[in-house]
Amino acid sequence: MTGMGWNLEHTYTQLPELFYSHVKPTPVEALQIVFLNGSLANSLGLDRQALQSEEGLNIFSGNKLPENSTPIAQAYAGHQFGHFTMLGDGRAHLLGEQVAPDGKRYDVQLKGSGQTPYSRRGDGRAVLGPMLREYVISEAMYALGVPSNRSLAVVVTGEAVKRETVKPGAILTRVADSHLRVGTFQYARQFGTTDDLRELADYALERHYSGYEEVENRYIFLLEEVMKRQAKAVSQWQLVGFIHGVMNTDNMTISGETIDYGPCAFMNAYDPETVFSSIDEQGRYKYGNQPRIAMWNLARLAESLLPLIDEDEDEAVKKAEEIVHQFIDYYRDDWLEGMRAKLGIFNSEDGDETLIDELLSLMKEHEADFTNTFRGLTLEEFDELKLFQTEGFTQWYQKWQERLNRQEETKEKSLELMKKHNPSVIPRNHRVEEALEAAEKDGDLTVVENLLRVLSKPYAYTKDQLEYTKPDDSDDDYMTFCGT
Ligand code: AMP
Ligand code: MG
Ligand code: MG
Repeated sequence: MTGMGWNLEHTYTQLPELFYSHVKPTPVEALQIVFLNGSLANSLGLDRQALQSEEGLNIFSGNKLPENSTPIAQAYAGHQFGHFTMLGDGRAHLLGEQVAPDGKRYDVQLKGSGQTPYSRRGDGRAVLGPMLREYVISEAMYALGVPSNRSLAVVVTGEAVKRETVKPGAILTRVADSHLRVGTFQYARQFGTTDDLRELADYALERHYSGYEEVENRYIFLLEEVMKRQAKAVSQWQLVGFIHGVMNTDNMTISGETIDYGPCAFMNAYDPETVFSSIDEQGRYKYGNQPRIAMWNLARLAESLLPLIDEDEDEAVKKAEEIVHQFIDYYRDDWLEGMRAKLGIFNSEDGDETLIDELLSLMKEHEADFTNTFRGLTLEEFDELKLFQTEGFTQWYQKWQERLNRQEETKEKSLELMKKHNPSVIPRNHRVEEALEAAEKDGDLTVVENLLRVLSKPYAYTKDQLEYTKPDDSDDDYMTFCGT
């Protein structure tokens, strides 16, 4: 059928063959589209009505390929919790690159669509709960303004998938700027030639970055630009209290988009030690470690690029290290800029960092909810949190007001700025769980629908969001599982 709006191309398969395998999704029964992201479909030039048909269901299930699709699984490697391994899409199929009406190119990928040459011992499948979770969190991140891949559809397949217990099988269709990862470069360096590596780097530059034709060494430029985008992305995570949970190098993109929402979660009470993932026993990927880990991952990217950075290895290492170390400054600047905005500060003063740090230590001391502290400051509502009743806060508040008075902009303008940077709602862990449970156990999708609606406008401060703003005490022991 034509008329769905597919406009698929395949630039990735012009890379040397070691970077992918041609492999088709494994057919399933294809029961039902449980979610279709209509506005995303529209922006991709796809017809949401047509996608809702039997044929759409079969496409999202991997039973039928859309027009001009040549499905592949991508090869990559990566450091998982510090250990290097060969990986690759073990349960995902890239259908192709959709060229949207605005000319932008997006990977369209099925996840949970069957085994590939990279499945190792995995079954190639996914289950409903985690796929819905990825759908909700990725869309929430996008709405929060954090660069993120997006979710186009979730289908239930009618297959029973064996995990700790038997779960309903599901397939998620993801849309990303690309799925190039730090791990793709590690793979090229480990298993390919320098020519393979160069082709990959040229492809990444062409796909995601501009201005590289003018520079002296475009591979140094690539490393710098990825470093800047990752600094930006991770600073945005910190500013909304997002904890990724599995910052392995295979989950870190070259485009700077956040991908792979597995055991991720949002922090409630402010504490840099916060970790939710049950598999992260050492706390390697805890909230306060995320910038450091991003830099560690960039060092792995830098190592992979060494042969392209300079013919002389010592020289290459020196140049690479210099760039990777700049991450801290870029991150710090992005984070400070974001924090100033969260506090309604327009210009910069030397004491700002101290002012911010003082607030954060008070928040930690009084176990103040991260999101609701900034929400309270934005709304000037000080009755909700214990923190606001303390002597320490009163003193800090005084300093903050003095700081605001020293800038030209009015208080009103400050509060406006704050509203744009302090979300009223985030995906509260108990809300997400409640929604997934209703969908999984009772087949009731309305809870997820309502949650998605509220999360789609996190800066709107509407009344219907109010009941979604409260943290839940039981969240203190919240654990996320890779449960996939
Ligand atoms: P992740 O931790 O989600 O980034 O996944 C790590 C690797 O495991 C990736 O290469 C996945 O494709 C693979 N993987 C995860 N679950 C499965 C599964 N059920 N079957 C096959 N491969 C899987
Ligand atoms: Mg992954
Ligand atoms: Mg995953």
